[in-house]
Amino acid sequence: MPSEPRFTFAPPATVFVPVVGQDTLFPVHRIYCVGRNYEEHAKEMGFTGREPPFFFLKPADAIVVAETDQTATIDYPRQTSNLHHEIELVVAIGTGGRNIQAADAHKHIFGYAVGLDMTRRDLQNDMKKQGRPWCIGKAFDQSAPIGPITPAAQAGDIARADIWVQVNGVDRQRSNISKLIWNIAETIEHLSAAWDLQPGDLIYTGTPEGVAAVKTGDVMDGGVSGLTPIHVEVVAA
Ligand code: MN
Repeated sequence: MPSEPRFTFAPPATVFVPVVGQDTLFPVHRIYCVGRNYEEHAKEMGFTGREPPFFFLKPADAIVVAETDQTATIDYPRQTSNLHHEIELVVAIGTGGRNIQAADAHKHIFGYAVGLDMTRRDLQNDMKKQGRPWCIGKAFDQSAPIGPITPAAQAGDIARADIWVQVNGVDRQRSNISKLIWNIAETIEHLSAAWDLQPGDLIYTGTPEGVAAVKTGDVMDGGVSGLTPIHVEVVAA
């Protein structure tokens, strides 16, 4: 009889996100992010035209859950003086697969949430200039705030939902999910061509124009119509 495995130290806790209207928790496997997926944001980053979608990852434990009707906090991160908000629709994968066709993508979606792809823009820009990986700009601790996941059937017409973030009550980003360059189904098709998607994967689908800096003490109120909004305050580390 095999004995219970013994670990060199306690294994890390599973990262999870609450689910709206259910008492189960969504365990997070990976966090995939789509780059430059709204035209006006691509332009503000200095790019034009429809390029094939490209992806980067954040570690699952970069998640910070913003509970319903509460203000979550993130520490102002180290090594940056240009911390940007990127409000994003997050797709939660419930059924894995590879080479998923866009027409079948809906079968793999568990639900949707509001997320922030927090970015150390100065470090990301340094890495871009040098042709180096974006990890230090994108994949840092607490870089992936997220609200509760709404099951797809209850999320309404997400493909035409408004998306926005305010900072201290003032609009910073406001757009519509219909303006995604690569829509949700196409994104899943491209992503699953390169990786085997697994239950628990999250896809941050990209941000519209209006990305800008936040500082310590700022409160970000983000939303996608039909989903639970998030409130996140940046605090001194
Ligand atoms: Mn992003």
